[in-house]
Amino acid sequence: MKRILSLIMVLCVAVAMLCSCENQIPEYTRTSFAFDTYVTFRIFKTDGTNTPEAICDSAIALLNDLEGKLSIEKEESEISKLNNLAATAPVKTDEQIYWLLKNCVDISNFTEGAFDITLGEISHLWGFYSDEPEKPDFDKLSSFAGKENYKKIVFDDENKTIFFKDDSFTIDLGAVGKGYALDMLKTLFAESGVVSGLVDFGGSILTVGKYNEGSWTVSVSDGTKDGIVGKITLPAALYSTSNASNRFIEYDGVKYHHIIDGKTAFPSESDVQSVTVICDSGLISDALSTAFFVMGKEKAQEFYKEYPITEFILIDKSGNTYVSDSIVNSFEAE
Ligand code: ADP
Ligand code: MG
Repeated sequence: MKRILSLIMVLCVAVAMLCSCENQIPEYTRTSFAFDTYVTFRIFKTDGTNTPEAICDSAIALLNDLEGKLSIEKEESEISKLNNLAATAPVKTDEQIYWLLKNCVDISNFTEGAFDITLGEISHLWGFYSDEPEKPDFDKLSSFAGKENYKKIVFDDENKTIFFKDDSFTIDLGAVGKGYALDMLKTLFAESGVVSGLVDFGGSILTVGKYNEGSWTVSVSDGTKDGIVGKITLPAALYSTSNASNRFIEYDGVKYHHIIDGKTAFPSESDVQSVTVICDSGLISDALSTAFFVMGKEKAQEFYKEYPITEFILIDKSGNTYVSDSIVNSFEAE
């Protein structure tokens, strides 16, 4: 008989980042729900080509369409199709998803698996996708450790097919879905005539244009309730945050958070409490926020030195805040 050992707790501390937009009233604000979280659009100014209402209608339609392709909880999604069939034969894949997956595998290689899109089976075993999660067999879980399955995905650029070399893993884009969606919204906003706007997607943030003719000020949290560590003031950018408090599951009174270290198949035990990554690509900021969390503060900082493609604000488990060199003067500690 199934024993219900725990409940998944999804906390809305996902609002790890808040925009301080007190001075200017948005022309239009709308909140919707997608990718299991709330998304708020604030349109401050448009060029008049489209109404803010129409722009938000299109944005919500875009998110619904993308969720339909990415969700592993929808049987007919592109990702479920791959997870169900790609170990048997190459599967023809939607072109947009094909390139997204190829980029993700590049980032998995680049981060030496700290970001790994092939941890779906492990998250599943942990019970993150179950309404009645059962405590996993830890020995069985350990047998999934260190497999580097992202190296087993075969891409055929000509035919846009994807093949899995074996059936021991599944893909999960949970770590980049929101960031990638923000990239698409950025394009949609540019094409629709948004001059100044903001999207807060469960703590991932897109700022467009200028705020009050200047930069945007965003509050950065350590992931705990009321845990604002400071404010960052920057021109338009994309922000993604990964932290251990965002989503967890509890077995026998022990909390297990949702960011997995593929090397152990267990929740990452790095020294990072929360990390926010900022750049002009939501896909990269989202992937690297997860990667930096798993890498830990030293490796993350080494990675930054070698590849300064993103900026970061990292809070370690002792409460120390580390800000990357290029934005240190834009950060104001609380
Ligand atoms: P959030 O989803 O709370 O914004 P992240 O962006 O860090 O946080 O993504 C975590 C999600 O990504 C997990 O819920 C899981 O679906 C998936 N995941 C967990 N560990 C990893 C990992 N090491 N690499 C890539 N995806 C992961
Ligand atoms: Mg992420």
